[in-house]
Amino acid sequence: MRPFQYQRAAGVREAIAKAEGCQTCSFLAGGTTVIDLVKLDVEKPEMLIDVGRLPMDTILRDEEGGLIIGANVRNSDLAWHSDVQRDYKALSEALLSGASPQLRNRATTAGNLMQRTRCPYFRDNYSPCNKREPGSDCAALAGYNRSHAVLGGSDSCIATHPSDMCVALAAFEATIRVEGPNGSRSIPFADFHLLPGDTPHLEHALEQGELITAVTLPPKRAGTASTYLKSRDRASYEFALASAAVSFGIEEGCIVEPKIALGGVATKPWRCYEAEKNLEGQVASLSVYEKAAEVALAEAEVFECNAFKVPLARNLLARALSEVEGRLARQSEVI
Ligand code: SF4
Repeated sequence: MRPFQYQRAAGVREAIAKAEGCQTCSFLAGGTTVIDLVKLDVEKPEMLIDVGRLPMDTILRDEEGGLIIGANVRNSDLAWHSDVQRDYKALSEALLSGASPQLRNRATTAGNLMQRTRCPYFRDNYSPCNKREPGSDCAALAGYNRSHAVLGGSDSCIATHPSDMCVALAAFEATIRVEGPNGSRSIPFADFHLLPGDTPHLEHALEQGELITAVTLPPKRAGTASTYLKSRDRASYEFALASAAVSFGIEEGCIVEPKIALGGVATKPWRCYEAEKNLEGQVASLSVYEKAAEVALAEAEVFECNAFKVPLARNLLARALSEVEGRLARQSEVI
């Protein structure tokens, strides 16, 4: 491991000031990703700026009834928060399906947003990898690409985004609040993670020195329910081969406000706008769900080892949609 400087920031502005002009500085909170990558010599920060003790660890309601989740809220605390359990069930389920209890106790909301891919070629530090070393080529395109993306890839990179939490945040249309040298701003979730294109080493919309301070969720729409389903090689402590976060309501038998995002199959948390359009106003039924799932995967491009992901994701999505219908029926029985 290379030597690096470690500094603890006493406040948000101080953290930003420390990072200003430093291209290779990273913020550190839970450390569950960044420390791994430093040990592997994949990330080579000149300085780690510890923001883990800054008071950004609360979950609050905003004036409209949405949720403001501090950047340092631990994944476990977020998953078990009563408002999240009640109003954003898919987010709770996504968080609880990720990593292990120990990691969830440590990992933060902002850190989860900044997770980097589990592509083995990215992490082995010797294979050609455009994400780790721009212009070096992509070993996965003609290599062992079983875990790789079928949506959103490019000729430069087909690495999947690893987060479960982010799939639910995509479906709930979260917003990311950041502070930087030029003040504060908000980034719609759909714009936060970047497609790889020709520059897979650029993964997010943060500008140099910007720090994530919170994630906000819009108020839950009355009469909706949500779920997160995940398929993986083993029952715990494993990344998704395919996952789906789904939310909608049913009014007079018809689907309203459908929101769908997929994980494990795309280079970023993958919002399925066309599939949502396909569902809106339809009479809820399995065949409608199957059609929407077909639309969601219509643009998929498969590689030698990952063609199985297309039917897997389709079936998982149709099942997630059915599950939400079931939850809505149970909710109405309770009412
Ligand atoms: Fe690197 Fe992306 Fe190719 Fe993996 S898929 S080797 S991360 S360029």
